[in-house]
Amino acid sequence: MALTREQIVNDVQAMLPQEQIITDEAVLKENSADRFRKFETIHDIYTQPLPAAVVKVTSAEEISRLLQYMNDHNINAVPRTGGSATEGGLETAVENSLVIDGSPMNDIVSIDSYDMLATVKCGVPLEDLETELRKQGLTTGHSPQSKPLAQMGGLVATRSIGQLSTLYGGIEDMVVGVEAVFPNGEITKIKNIPRRAAGPDIRHVIIGNEGALCYITEVTVKVFQYQPEHNQYYGYVLDNMKTGFDILREVMVQGYRPSVARLYDPEDAADHFDFSQGKCVLIFMAEGPQRIAEATGQAIEAIVAQYSESERVESRLIQEWFENLNWDPSKVEEERQAIKDSNNIGFTTEVSGSWSVIHDIYERCITRIREEIPHITMLGGHSSHSYLNGTNMYFVYYYDLVDIKPEEEITAYHYPINKIIVEETIKAGGSMVHHHGVGKHRTPWIKDEYGSSYYILETLKKAFDPKCIMNKGTIFPTDD
Ligand SMILES: Cc1cc2nc3c(=O)[nH]c(=O)nc-3n(C[C@H](O)[C@H](O)[C@H](O)COP(=O)(O)OP(=O)(O)OC[C@H]3O[C@@H](n4cnc5c(N)ncnc54)[C@H](O)[C@@H]3O)c2cc1C
Repeated sequence: MALTREQIVNDVQAMLPQEQIITDEAVLKENSADRFRKFETIHDIYTQPLPAAVVKVTSAEEISRLLQYMNDHNINAVPRTGGSATEGGLETAVENSLVIDGSPMNDIVSIDSYDMLATVKCGVPLEDLETELRKQGLTTGHSPQSKPLAQMGGLVATRSIGQLSTLYGGIEDMVVGVEAVFPNGEITKIKNIPRRAAGPDIRHVIIGNEGALCYITEVTVKVFQYQPEHNQYYGYVLDNMKTGFDILREVMVQGYRPSVARLYDPEDAADHFDFSQGKCVLIFMAEGPQRIAEATGQAIEAIVAQYSESERVESRLIQEWFENLNWDPSKVEEERQAIKDSNNIGFTTEVSGSWSVIHDIYERCITRIREEIPHITMLGGHSSHSYLNGTNMYFVYYYDLVDIKPEEEITAYHYPINKIIVEETIKAGGSMVHHHGVGKHRTPWIKDEYGSSYYILETLKKAFDPKCIMNKGTIFPTDD
C-alpha cells in the first residue's frame, strides 16, 4: 500500500537532519513546476501535485539511502539542482513525490591544470566554477545563457550546450568522468581517462538522463586555456535564411571551428540587433591561440565574401552584443510583472536537422504556426550550434492570451505550437530536442523521435529503474 504523505515525511526525517527536509507549502509549490508553467506560476496557480517534501542532500551516501527507501516504497524522485529547467523536467507529476535538491553539494573538489580537468559536486553553479578557473587562466568553454543559475548536475543531466559550442562542443564532449547514484542505492563512478575502447561509452547512460535513470552527484569536465584577448568578432546582414545556412555549412565543411556561429531570421534579429534593418543577421566569433583565431577569422571573411547579398557590420557591435548576452536573473521579477500586465508571453523550442533539411524545417514551422495559431505577436528564430553535418534551429514565439484562464495557456497555445515544431522536425528526419531536454512535454513523441532505437532507450529504463521511481513522465511515457 502507498505510504501517506505524513509517513513519508516522518521516515525521511528519521533518515536525515531535520533542517534538510522542507515541507513549507510555498517551497513545495515552487518546487512542483519549472519555467514551462511560467504563466501559471506568475499568477500563483499551481496545477501539479505538490511534493511531500524538498530534501536538501549533502552527499552521494545520503542520496543512496534516500533512493533505496523511495525505491522500496514506490515514491517518485525528482532530482533538482539549479532549477532553470524549461521543459517540465522539474514538475512533480505524481502525488507525494520527493524533490531531491543537490544544490548544497557545491564543492569544487579539484582543479588540475596539468591533466586539464576540473572535478565538482553536482550543486556547483557553472558561474562559480568559471570564476575559479579564470583566476588560473582556464575555462570550461561551457557558456549556456543560464550560466548564472544552472548547476553542474543539471547541466550534465540535460545534455546542455553553450554559446561557444562550435569550438568546445556540448557538455557531452566535456564530461570526462562522472559519479551517479541509481535508484537501488548503487553509487557508481566512471573514472577520468582521455579515451578508452573498453566496451560501450557508459558515460552516455548518465549524460542527458534528466533524472529519469539516476542522480548525478559529481562531474569531472575538461578545462581549456582561457585566451579572450585573441577573440575576433564578425557580423553580417543578409536577405535570406537559406543563404545564411549555406554560409554556416561552408564554414563547417571547409573545416573551420569558430566558437560562435549564429544565424538569426529577420524577426528574431530585430529583437537583438539595432543594425539588422529588417534582415537576417549572421555572427561569428573566432577564438583560441592567436594564429588559429586569426586564420579562422580570415577564412570566415573569405567565405562570406563569396555571397554578394552579405553586408559586413562593425565588429565592435558584435562584441558589445556578445558581452551582454547572458541572462540576467535580477530581471526575472520585472519580466514576470511585464507578462502579468500585458498578458503576452514568450517561449522557445529548439530542434536540429541535417543541412539538407534545416531550411525546410524552418520554413514549414514558421508557415504552419502563422496559419494555425492565433494571437501570435512575434515569431522567429535562430541557428546557434553548427556541426559538420547540420545545425540547430531555436524557435522563439510570443503570443497574447485572449479570453482564457492562466491555467489554459499551455493547452491553448504552448502545446499546439510545440506540436507543430516537433511534428515538422521529426517528419523531416531531424531531432525534436536539440538542448533543453525532453522534460515532460515532449515525452508524447519520444517513440517517434527514436524509431526502432527506442528499444535501447526503454531497456535502459527497465534495467536501471524497473519500478519507475525516477522523475515520472520525464523522457519515458508513464504507461511504460
Ligand atoms: C534563461 C535561460 C537560458 C537557458 N539557456 C540555455 C542554454 O544556453 N543552453 C542550454 O543547454 N540550456 C539552457 N537553458 C535550460 C537550462 O538552464 C539547462 O537545461 C540547465 O542545464 C539546467 O541546469 P539546472 O542546474 O538548472 O537543472 P534543473 O533545472 O535543476 O534540472 C534540469 C533537469 O535535470 C534534472 N536534474 C537536475 N539535477 C540533476 C542531478 N543532479 N542528477 C540527475 N538529474 C538532475 C532535473 O530533474 C530536470 O529534469 C536555459 C534556461 C533558462 C531559464
